[in-house]
Formats: sequence, structure tokens, C-alpha cells
Amino acid sequence: MTYNISKKAKEVDRHPMTFLERIYLPAIAKGLKITLGHMFIKRPTINYPEVKRPFSSTFRGLHVLNRDEEGRERCTACGLCALSCPAEAITMEAAERLPSESHLYREEKYAANYEINMLRCIFCGLCEEACPKDAIYLSQTFAPANYERKGFIYKKDDLLIPMTAEMESKKEKSTQH
Ligand code: SF4
Ligand code: SF4
Repeated sequence: MTYNISKKAKEVDRHPMTFLERIYLPAIAKGLKITLGHMFIKRPTINYPEVKRPFSSTFRGLHVLNRDEEGRERCTACGLCALSCPAEAITMEAAERLPSESHLYREEKYAANYEINMLRCIFCGLCEEACPKDAIYLSQTFAPANYERKGFIYKKDDLLIPMTAEMESKKEKSTQH
């Protein structure tokens, strides 16, 4: 199909340039005014990682496996978090605790292995919602970057909250009794 371009084209009415338009100075001043205005606007960028952006209170970051006040692992390897995870990011292996390990684990059963694949995780928080023991929560910490895929598989030791001095002393007292 061919078009008759000359019939469709419209003639543009160009008015002759004024003296001010020909010397370009008003246009340059207008451009400089915009540039100067932007120089004093607060920048939306931050110098990460030296400066960290404050997150909303509902931000969901890296998972943490919780301990009780005596430092014992709260997780009983019930599997509800893995069942509720829409991304199938959680895997675990349950084990039975020995009587001599009651200072380490809270219940009869505990997670011998616990892993979260952060490449699958969508940080929905359903694992936290499903947990009946308050054993897992999503903290305000970013999941750090890594160069290898295996670096995104977080194991139990990466996820367990460190013992505080208070937990250590309570644990010592409970083992003495
Ligand atoms: S936050 Fe959501 S996607 Fe990530 S491990 Fe928990 S349930 Fe799965
Ligand atoms: S984190 Fe909570 S829901 Fe998941 S296995 Fe442990 S106790 Fe069960």
C-alpha cells in the first residue's frame, strides 16, 4: 500500500525568532535556574553501606531462629514453617534430644539441620505467622549479597540468634540445678 505523503503533511506555522530568542541568553538563564534549583534539593540517594536507610516497622529482612530466655533453641522442627512457605524455601531435619541436652533444646524434638534458600524466598513472612513456638521471625537486617549461589543457602548456624550475656548466665544457673 502506498500513501500520498504530500496530501497528509501539514504545514507548520513558524513565527520569526525575536531578538531575545536569537541571542539565547534568556534560555541559558532559564536552564541555569533549573540547575541551581536542583543543586540545593535534598538528594534522594544515600551513601550505602556507610549510611543505612531507616526501614518501615513492617519491613521483612533476614530470618532469625530464636532462643528462649535461657538460650535454648525454640524450634521443635514441627515443619509448619516449611509447609506454609509458598516458595518451598525451607528444609529441615528433625532429631530427638537426649536427656543430657535439655540445656540446649527446649522440647523433646529439635531441628538438627535447618536451611532457608534465600534465592527462593519472597520475604512474605508466612513462616513467621505459622510458627507456634515464636521460633522464627524476619528481622530488619538485609540479606547480604554473595557471588555464589550456595552462599544464599542459610544454615541453622547462620540463622540462630547469638547468645546474650543474660542468656548465658541463666543457662549456667539452670545447668547447676
Ligand atoms: S518469608 Fe515466605 S518465602 Fe521466605 S521462607 Fe518464609 S514463608 Fe518462605
Ligand atoms: S521454626 Fe517454628 S514452625 Fe518452623 S519448624 Fe521450628 S517450631 Fe516449627
